[in-house]
Amino acid sequence: MPEFEARLSQVEMAHDVTEIISDGGILVAEAGTGVGKSFAYLIPALAWAIGNSEPVVISTATINLQQQIYKKDFPIVSSLFKKPAKAVVVKGRGNYLCKRRLYAAIEEDALFSDSSMKLREILEWDNGGGSGDKSDLALPDDDPIWSRVCSESDYCLSLHCPYHDKCHVIHIRLEAASAQLIIANHHVLLADLEAKRIREGIINTVLPSYQALVIDEAHALEASATSLFSETFSKRSIQRLLLRLSRHKKRIQVGILASLSKLPDIPSMLIDAARLQLENTESSADAFNAVAATCFLENESSVLVKNLSGLNRTMFLSALQNLEKEIALLVTRLGEISEAIAQELEDEESVIELRITLRSLEEMAALLAQFIKPESEPGSIFWLQVDKKNPKEPIVICSATPLDVAPILSERLFEKIRSCICTSATLTINGSFQWWRSRVGLLERGISETRLLEAGQSKSNRDLKNRLSGQTLERNSIQNPRILQKNYPSPFPYSKNAMLAIDTEATPPDSPEFQAYLNTAVAKLLKASRGRALVLFTSHKALRDTYNAVSPLLEQEGVLALRQGQKDRYSLLRTFVNDISSVLFATESFWEGVDAPGETLSLVIITRLPFRVPTDPIQSSRAAAIDARGGNSFAEMSIPEAVILFKQGFGRLIRHSQDRGVVAVLDVRILKKAYGSLFISSLPRCRLAMGALDSICRDVAEFLDNER
Ligand code: SF4
Repeated sequence: MPEFEARLSQVEMAHDVTEIISDGGILVAEAGTGVGKSFAYLIPALAWAIGNSEPVVISTATINLQQQIYKKDFPIVSSLFKKPAKAVVVKGRGNYLCKRRLYAAIEEDALFSDSSMKLREILEWDNGGGSGDKSDLALPDDDPIWSRVCSESDYCLSLHCPYHDKCHVIHIRLEAASAQLIIANHHVLLADLEAKRIREGIINTVLPSYQALVIDEAHALEASATSLFSETFSKRSIQRLLLRLSRHKKRIQVGILASLSKLPDIPSMLIDAARLQLENTESSADAFNAVAATCFLENESSVLVKNLSGLNRTMFLSALQNLEKEIALLVTRLGEISEAIAQELEDEESVIELRITLRSLEEMAALLAQFIKPESEPGSIFWLQVDKKNPKEPIVICSATPLDVAPILSERLFEKIRSCICTSATLTINGSFQWWRSRVGLLERGISETRLLEAGQSKSNRDLKNRLSGQTLERNSIQNPRILQKNYPSPFPYSKNAMLAIDTEATPPDSPEFQAYLNTAVAKLLKASRGRALVLFTSHKALRDTYNAVSPLLEQEGVLALRQGQKDRYSLLRTFVNDISSVLFATESFWEGVDAPGETLSLVIITRLPFRVPTDPIQSSRAAAIDARGGNSFAEMSIPEAVILFKQGFGRLIRHSQDRGVVAVLDVRILKKAYGSLFISSLPRCRLAMGALDSICRDVAEFLDNER
């Protein structure tokens, strides 16, 4: 292998992955930066896939890692094997072109003498052998044309589709079925589980059957599951269903009802009744959206349904009940049409489309019913969010989010999978996996070994038990021999190359003087480091204020100041990496996934410990549930979440063994609060500089000057 260097942690991890993939079980592996965890799982995974003629699914949280595995790591790993191997990147359905929708859109536009250049370009691309993957098409991310032609499970006719044989989604599925490694993301992985569960079949799913899974960036699994297992509706989503049934342009009716009206034996009065009900439903969706939009206070973008009170609550429920009633009536009208359809017409495209739309409307009515009686669904958080992209017509999105995704992941994922590797650089708090495992369903709801014994693997279990009694593996709290957990330390010399600097006299973050302090402290630290820094914030306001105060000073020094939002993330990071002295001011997603090796990132300033906003509806509901059962939500949820994000922020600093740098913390709670020690003890052992601001600035300058 080119540039190969033996790393003990990597070899050890590869050994454990081999055992779990071969014998079954779950490995929870924290691998520090530089372990080379992707090689540690790719080599055993590929060996097993080739040897057993079965695919292994690799799931990542980010596209970056997906691309790195596919383009950089897999070619090297596969070259180590004599047998040829194939890897396929599988994305969510919405990334692929649906030929049926494309032809329908072109046909519809032709009917109205409209000619969309973009549709023609997409057609040419497709006819010219285009991959069907949106990323290969020069189309802006937010171009609305794509939503007219992309694949959606609710639109898919699957085996009944006239384009089935040439379908891009089916093609990628066949490709995946013949690959040894399937590189997906958490969203695809979880959506696939959901599709297989709901549809009770695999026709509509993207991933083929698999028994071995690697979840990389596993620290993000809970967030991905929270998003994926949320159900939503809005005026927009209702309109989309209604437009599928009927739409007209220039007085010509098109859509499912228009097609059905051409079939024999369907009484026109049934079609007319459905059209009338469709109009009623559309009006009530408009009315509901208008009422729901009044439920927000000024500057409020989300609200819990249970917190609505007084007139707001009464009007919201009344509009919701009316909407539910209208959708239920529409379902009845469409059901009447469905019953009138003769047996021999069952395979007609419009009939299949009717059944699919009917099912979607029934699901939507059921969701609305849950919103009307949220108390009957104690496991869900019902909340509203307002989208003000169009200030003249704000759209309210109603979501039902699981209060706890742990039981869902446990039941649908971990209990079903034979072998699973969960890995990330940030899974532990102060060396313990307890918290992460409890959040994803690998603690209380442990998986019994019975299923393994049934599968005739008693010897493997004995081996695992033996290993559990060894020095290197932690014994987990549920005494479940199927779950191994282990920390593979980073080989990087943190104690020599990294420094943690803490201002012991920093202004407390709840003080009104904190922003003024930040302006001074950030400016002084950046002077000491001569730029070359990433400044991480927990709020856009603090980011903006600090940037406005500090960037003129940086400009005077000839240092480029970059701010999140100035350009897209990719361009911003490229500029930051290429311009050595530049400084990037950022928040949110920039705490994770910024990979800027070398001198360009010599200082990370953590302006505030990254506690999540307590008013966030999901966060506050989960906290309330913990408190209600007698727990302490701050200790059980807020602190661990913040520690994991803090570790991610710290992890931006040292990306290569030669990297050298400082993480400066300007939140004095890390010293003054009892929980502060958890943040420090969760980091790799490194040098520590503590003192007043001027003192740590001198330490920073001295430490970085020694790098030459
Ligand atoms: S099978 Fe489904 S995704 Fe493929 S072209 Fe047909 S409708 Fe579209």
